[in-house]
Amino acid sequence: METSPAAPTAAPQAATAAPPPAEAATPADAANPADAPSPVAPAAAPPRSLSPSRAADFMRCPLLYRFRVIDRLPEKPSAAATRGTLVHAVLERLFDVPAAERTAPRARDLLPGQWERLRESRPEVMELFADDPDGTRLARWLEEAEGLVERWFTLEDPTRLEPVEREFTVETELESGLRLRGIIDRVDVAPTGEVRIVDYKTGKAPRPQYAEEALFQMKFYALVVWRLKRVLPRRLQLVYLGSGDVVTYDPVPADLQRVERRLLALWEAITLATATGEWRPRRGRLCDWCDHQDRCPEFGGTPPPYPLPVTLPTPAPRTAE
Ligand code: SF4
Repeated sequence: METSPAAPTAAPQAATAAPPPAEAATPADAANPADAPSPVAPAAAPPRSLSPSRAADFMRCPLLYRFRVIDRLPEKPSAAATRGTLVHAVLERLFDVPAAERTAPRARDLLPGQWERLRESRPEVMELFADDPDGTRLARWLEEAEGLVERWFTLEDPTRLEPVEREFTVETELESGLRLRGIIDRVDVAPTGEVRIVDYKTGKAPRPQYAEEALFQMKFYALVVWRLKRVLPRRLQLVYLGSGDVVTYDPVPADLQRVERRLLALWEAITLATATGEWRPRRGRLCDWCDHQDRCPEFGGTPPPYPLPVTLPTPAPRTAE
């Protein structure tokens, strides 16, 4: 596979970086902060489509998927995920200003306004600072967000980028009927027509054993764009603001076909679990951040009654022959 394709836009990029010793993906690096679980609880409903975040939930823990997608249980805002949302908003809005003015100071200036907008649209984020009467923690948190925004300028040069899409909502239906949807942070298109899909992560680049998980999300987006626009994205690019790394991958059709097969198998498993009401907990590193420990059997809790009709009996466990 080629490792140095033509850059889809004029901006020079940092070389593909070997992930340093770092924390694996955290909730700050949900596929897209806009796709984060809801802080309010709409009515329970069966799943109708798959996004990278929810696909990752099911792969990590089917019971977590149920709580988020079927029960739609509210979750508390997290400082890391909220900071991710704020930083994403600043990076997105910076492209509204003329190219020459897209500097770090200008980006910093956008931060207070975007923070205000976020507070207005999601007042619950202020719960994060409820016990911070003198505002010290909030000030430090905003400084950290500022640091992440500034680091971006060491990784990409927005004065030389003209994205064709930002916070791009994509949705497509596969031949099987499975609907895929997602929100892509940025899409660049080179004069040659080559497409680059870019995703910002406010966490650190993952250790090698977790790198495939982050790439899975990018391949998911690439598959949706490929099916939707009939164009195979030339490059997938993850920009890790937490550690200052840029990780790239150039997909080939076989990669995306593999992802499609994997998603179909995943959807089959989700459909079966929906019909049987059998959602197993899977304990793992994300339990530390899970809002649902008190209702999770792995932690001595009991899930709420299943809110959907059960239409299939639970499959009998296999016995050894
Ligand atoms: S606590 Fe862990 S095992 Fe339980 S639902 Fe959450 S992620 Fe799954």
